[in-house]
Amino acid sequence: MQGYIIDVKSVKDEDLIVTVLAQNSVYTTYRFYGARHSNINVGYKIDFEIESNIKSTIPRLKDVIQLGFEWIFDREKLYCWQRFLKLFYAHLKDVDELDSFYFELLEELAVKINKQNPKRAIIESYIKLLEYEGRLHTEYECLICEQHIEKNISLVRAFHPTHSKCTYSKSFKFSKVQKLFEDSSTIDFSDEECDYLWNILLQGI
Ligand SMILES: [Zn+2]
Repeated sequence: MQGYIIDVKSVKDEDLIVTVLAQNSVYTTYRFYGARHSNINVGYKIDFEIESNIKSTIPRLKDVIQLGFEWIFDREKLYCWQRFLKLFYAHLKDVDELDSFYFELLEELAVKINKQNPKRAIIESYIKLLEYEGRLHTEYECLICEQHIEKNISLVRAFHPTHSKCTYSKSFKFSKVQKLFEDSSTIDFSDEECDYLWNILLQGI
């Protein structure tokens, strides 16, 4: 099957615990050092098999083939992608079975990153994730004072809207945030503003 590596931890003798997001599951697997033929790193897409062992609670990761991206040698794209996938791990680590939405979101994002600024592409995908999980606050109610926001909107962790005056943070035109939320589009945001949104995203999805 295929999946995306969302976490890698070293254990004894350079063996690894590798967490893979596949279409309908998150697999926590064990990778023996001696069996390591291809590169294992966060963000890599792999074809793999898992082998359960009655002696161990954790299945073995085997027959790994790395499936490349066209942009894999673009350092900035790979860096942003890896940061985002690590956040996926934090978000999904306690989940075993999951809807194919997450895998498909990454499939789509991997293609988009080829042509688009990686931060923009990731922010737009993140909006879709928030919407899917029912966490996109299109009622535009301030997290702090619970009053409706009409202009001068700010965004805090998980892109939760607030009045700029309630959080003393960077203010955006209401229509820009509305376009971001409703069309999953960063087109109205400058690169500098996208950097700002990117830093909010890094606080945790
Ligand atoms: Zn407020």
